[in-house]
Amino acid sequence: MSTLLKRGSRGAAVRALQELINRAVGAPAVKVDGDFGPATELAVKAAQQRLGLVIDGIAGPQTMTALKREAEKPKPGRAEPDKSAMNVNPPHEKGWFGTPSAPPPNVSAVNLLDTVRPISEIIVHCAATPEGKDFTVDDIRAWHKQRGWSDIGYHYVVYRDGRVMLGRPIGQIGAHVAGRNTGTIGICYIGGVSADGKTAKDTRTAAQRAALLWLVGQLAAKHKGVRKISGHNEYAAKACPSFDVRRDPLGALAA
Ligand SMILES: [Zn+2]
Repeated sequence: MSTLLKRGSRGAAVRALQELINRAVGAPAVKVDGDFGPATELAVKAAQQRLGLVIDGIAGPQTMTALKREAEKPKPGRAEPDKSAMNVNPPHEKGWFGTPSAPPPNVSAVNLLDTVRPISEIIVHCAATPEGKDFTVDDIRAWHKQRGWSDIGYHYVVYRDGRVMLGRPIGQIGAHVAGRNTGTIGICYIGGVSADGKTAKDTRTAAQRAALLWLVGQLAAKHKGVRKISGHNEYAAKACPSFDVRRDPLGALAA
C-alpha cells in the first residue's frame, strides 16, 4: 500500500499526485502529465517545505496525507485566520530569551534555509501589528491574499516568542519590496507599531531580537552572495521595520 512516487515514476498514480499538488497549492503548480520529472520533484519539494515535512522530493504516505489534507482545506480568499500554528512547538516556559548563537525554540523545524536561487541581500520587515499582540503566518497570508497575491510575501516570520516560522518557500521570489524581490529574502517580525496601533515603534521582544540575529546570521552564512542586510525603509517611504537596520547589530551580519 505504501507506494513511493519519485523521480522516474510514471502513470496514473503520478497524474493523481500532480492533480493533488495543484489542488493543495490552489493553482496550476505543475503539469499533469503522469511523468514524475524534475518539475514534479521540485513541486513536491516545495509542497513538503510548505507543509513542514522532510524535503526529499519523494511522495510517500506522509506527503500524500498532508497534501490531501491541504487540498481539502477551503481555499477562498477570506479564510478565517488560523491560529493553529501558535500551538505547534509551544514556547519555552516564561518565554525564550535566547542569544544569537542559541537557536530559536522551534529550530528543529527550521532546517529550510537552502535555495538555489542566488541571494545577495536580506531585507527586514515588520508586520505593522500592535505591540503585545500575537499574529500568525496564516494571518499575514490571508492579508496578502486579500491584496490578490498568491501567497504571503515574506519568506520567514519571527513570532514574539522567538519562533521562526516559514512563509513563502525560500526558493520562490518574495513579494516584500517593490523592485527588490529578485535576489532577496524577506523576513518579517510580528509587531512594529505601538499598542495604540498608530505609531511606528521597534517592538521587538528580546526573543525576537535574538531569533532575528540567529536567522539572519544563518542565512548570511548559507548564502555566500549576501552583501547587505537592510530594512524596507531604505527602499520605500515607510517606517517598516520601525528601526534602522544599518545601525542595528543585524546590519553588521553581511559579509
Ligand atoms: Zn516592509
